[in-house]
Amino acid sequence: MLGLVKANDKRHYLKESTSWVTKQKVDDDFIPSHNFIEDLDEIPFYDYDLRDIKKHGHNPAMSALAAIDNQKGFHVMTSRGCPFKCTFCASHKVHGRSMRYHGIDRVRSDFTRLKEEYGATTVIFQDDHLMGNIDRVYEILKIIKDLHLESVFQNGLTLYALDKKMLNAFYDAGVRQLVLPVESGSAKVLKHSMRKPLKLSISKRVADDCRDLGIYTNTNILIGMPGETKEDIEEGRRNLRTIHSNWFHIVCASPLVGSEMNEIAVKNNYLKGDTLGADYRKAVVETEDFTADYIQEMQYIMNLELNFIYNNDIKFGEYDQALKGLLNVIRVKKDHSFAYYYASLCFIGKKEYKEAEAHMLNAIKYCNIGNWWKYIDYFGLPKDEWMKFNLNGLEAHLNKIQNMDEDVHINSNNKLNPISVNTDVY
Ligand code: SF4
Repeated sequence: MLGLVKANDKRHYLKESTSWVTKQKVDDDFIPSHNFIEDLDEIPFYDYDLRDIKKHGHNPAMSALAAIDNQKGFHVMTSRGCPFKCTFCASHKVHGRSMRYHGIDRVRSDFTRLKEEYGATTVIFQDDHLMGNIDRVYEILKIIKDLHLESVFQNGLTLYALDKKMLNAFYDAGVRQLVLPVESGSAKVLKHSMRKPLKLSISKRVADDCRDLGIYTNTNILIGMPGETKEDIEEGRRNLRTIHSNWFHIVCASPLVGSEMNEIAVKNNYLKGDTLGADYRKAVVETEDFTADYIQEMQYIMNLELNFIYNNDIKFGEYDQALKGLLNVIRVKKDHSFAYYYASLCFIGKKEYKEAEAHMLNAIKYCNIGNWWKYIDYFGLPKDEWMKFNLNGLEAHLNKIQNMDEDVHINSNNKLNPISVNTDVY
């Protein structure tokens, strides 16, 4: 960019550049190549005075960002690049596979300026592979702690690097929530369809360690990868129930332009409908193994199953933690009968019966307005409780959840009838 700004003849510069793309170059089948700034410290501090900070906002549907003051949370990227080759990711097309870093002094100076000049209270990390240099992570956590900043790691962190010592350092720096990029509950899908070097035992261990420490975890899961079968999805559903995360974010695999997944989908004619704006909510991949409608349905079923039916926090009697997720759902989707129902169970667990009744009455009200009966049938839930506030019945259900065997599994042969496409996240 600096080269372009400084060039006397800008058209000539664009024509000769190996990295700038113009319409003419596209017509000539030009293939651009990267021209990276190797020393990230050459990039100046972003001048926030150029923008209207009041219009700065975060996606309220993302529970990781729900609690952040829009005007005081700032996105930061202290490194660029990622050496891994996850098939669903296109990060390497933008930042390459080699790691490049801001120096630690520069990180300290930027965070200090964000705090002192713009009133930042939170830094939201956008690094693709923050854990690429472990010593550097400890130093960054020390900066966060020294400056009394909150921090959010939106892209998730490489799980194998989150050993107990590292998690303790995160906790010590004030980190109270992490995104876990588990991506699938099937070892086969992780290895072959996603090419992600991750073992389920590590995901399980990290989720348990975070729970012990008091770090809230939000686990990311993708379904509908080319090569994934319905059996893999069923196996994934079963295994995910053994990962004791606080919340699961289940999305439909999206064929990002530049990702290997997109190349496979195009080559095999797997794309269905308009892929622009699919945004992980809409299933747009259809293979020999599944239809897009099936993935859409399973995405919603798995969301209900992992976050409500088998909510880990309710299972362990950690009702305040459970209510964080459930009340966040109610905040963004006011007619979510399941969220009211399970929140009611939490209030019963807390012996706050008035709140329990109020939430149950909403569960009943919205159940009769919305489409919830089909899901109540699908999961075999106690119907009587959805008809009237029945304290004994609800207490019995709460007890059942807390004594449920993790091996009990609802098979997706339990079809919803008729299959309906629901692109809601919750
Ligand atoms: S998903 Fe994350 S770990 Fe995998 S290649 Fe992309 S940035 Fe790297």
